[in-house]
Parts: sequence; C-alpha cells; structure tokens
Amino acid sequence: MSNEVFRPLRGATRAQPAAALANTQHTANRLFQTSTMSALLDGVYDGDFTIDALLEHGDFGLGTFNALNGEMIVNDSDVHQLHAEGGVSDVPLDALTPFACVTFFKPEQRFELERPMTKAEFEALIDERIGNSNLIVAVRFTGIFEDVHTRTVFCQCKPYPKMLEVVAKQPTIRFGATSGTMLGFRTPIYMQGINVAGYHVHFLDMDAGKGGHVMDYKLHAGEVELAVISDVEIALPRNEAFAKADLNPADLHESIRIAEGE
Ligand code: ZN
Repeated sequence: MSNEVFRPLRGATRAQPAAALANTQHTANRLFQTSTMSALLDGVYDGDFTIDALLEHGDFGLGTFNALNGEMIVNDSDVHQLHAEGGVSDVPLDALTPFACVTFFKPEQRFELERPMTKAEFEALIDERIGNSNLIVAVRFTGIFEDVHTRTVFCQCKPYPKMLEVVAKQPTIRFGATSGTMLGFRTPIYMQGINVAGYHVHFLDMDAGKGGHVMDYKLHAGEVELAVISDVEIALPRNEAFAKADLNPADLHESIRIAEGE
C-alpha cells in the first residue's frame, strides 16, 4: 500500500514559495481539507501532507501538526504553531499535518461588531446573517477580546492514545482581556466526523505570541469577516493508520463534542 497522499505534482525546486504562486491562480472560498476529524479522534496523528502543499490550497484556516504537536492557525498565508507549553512558532514548509482545513478567504461580508458579545451571541449573529445552516462558513474576527479560553494539545508519543485521552489532560488557558485574531469555520451538522460540526475556531494574539484552539470567548469590539463555502475538496490519506481507523464509532458525535470542547 502506498504511503503517499494525493497531492499536486510539483517541481523539485522552486524560486517562489507555494503560497505566492497559488495566490495568483486560486479559487476563492473553496474548502480544502486533509483527512477527517474522525480519523484524528481515532488517533491518526501522522499525515503525509506538507505545509507547503497545504498553502497551495488556502491562505486561511486551522488544523494540527503530526504527533498532535500543537494547534495550527493560518492567516494571510502565515502559518503558526501554537504550542501546549504556551509559545507560538513559525512553521517550516516541510512540516507535516494529519488534519487541516484551509481556504483562500475572500470575505463576502465585512462589518464592525455593534456591541460586546458572548460566544453564543456571536454564533447566533453569524447564523442569522448567513441564513443557511447547510453550507460552510469561513469566519474571521479581528479586534479586542474581553476574554478568550483556549486549549492546546500536547505532542504525543507512539503508541498514540485516542484523542479523548489526550484532551482529558490538555492544558487550558484563559487569556483574559487581549487583542488578536480568531478564525475558522462553521460546518453543518451533517458533516460531523468528516469535519467538526458547528463552530471550530483558533485564536492568535496580536503579537503572534500566544493562542490556541478556542473553547470560549467574549468579544469586545472589532471587525467581522464572513464568507460562505459550498465547494469542498478532501484529501484522504492512503496510509495504513487511516486504512485501519474506525471512522464511524457509535459515540462519534459525543466524542467530537468532548474533544473540541463544545
Ligand atoms: Zn481546533
């Protein structure tokens, strides 16, 4: 069995980074993802997809890194690795991801937040503005937060534990008042398992010094950008771990809810 995932053929050398090339020829607001959330949940923490290849499919998004080594946030083609120990680092283009979702984000709605909002209020506002719960939404908030509560997964060693064991021990951090960017996707309920149903967003502070997978927040003021996504491409791994993974467990919905901190 091949250990390769499908990815576009590329030259051995290139003068320009992939993202710079891709920006000249991309399709906006099309979701590209590697693997599935259910595979991650089942402990498939090693992928064959490089960050370089990922950036050919989007300049905006989120995910994780091989061995579940922290959270990924991609904003304007900048990829950051948010570490469980607290720091943030840039990512080499040959780093690998087992699960990531990206798009070339072209906002279709852009507006200022009218008043401070809780997570539930903000999500309701987006739902109302989009008016269609069966499509994906890319969302970015840039501004001031009254509070942000995140978690960041730790790098795992083989044999890999299942994700629910990992998240039970993961550190969570309350940042309190801060400013920065929160971005990600709203995914329809029928896509649970392929992706994370509902809102899945990551946070990076203004100085790119801290961040994580967002569990809860309260927004104070800032700019909201939204785009609807109706076009999706999924690159499924051809490796042995994915081949043997249980991608349809009976407790899928509850497990993802716990794993993602809904
Ligand atoms: Zn996440």
